[in-house]
Amino acid sequence: MFNIIHMLLGALIGRELDSLWLIALLGIGSHFLLDMIPHWDVKYDRKKLQEKGEIDIEKKFIYFNFLLGIIGLIMVIILSRHNKEAHMLFGALIAYSPDFLSLFYAKCKNKWITKYVKFHSKIQGENSYFLGTIIQTSLIIVLVKILF
Ligand SMILES: [Zn+2]
Repeated sequence: MFNIIHMLLGALIGRELDSLWLIALLGIGSHFLLDMIPHWDVKYDRKKLQEKGEIDIEKKFIYFNFLLGIIGLIMVIILSRHNKEAHMLFGALIAYSPDFLSLFYAKCKNKWITKYVKFHSKIQGENSYFLGTIIQTSLIIVLVKILF
């Protein structure tokens, strides 16, 4: 799922709640629920990851994800002005954090991160590029409308 969507939903959770613990819990929970929605995402060999614990993601996808993260962060900063900025920013970053951990998997492997990355990969809902992009674009529009 595009990280912008995780960040926008996290920001919404941050805006609506006061407890940072609850924001963290629901932010991370929302990440995994969103990932289960059939969507289009960065392609890699899932079978290889599940069997050997190896992941090959092209660098261009990592840069693409990074760029989307920056755009998401700017959107959250703009949408949260004068309205619980710290809570919304915290919600956005915590909701994105499960993907952040996966992105650095290739660099810092250990038993627990490998288990986590396999779990994260297993729960992903898959869809075609066309339908997946429509679903994700719709989610972005709905979340921005709610946040405005
Ligand atoms: Zn994810």
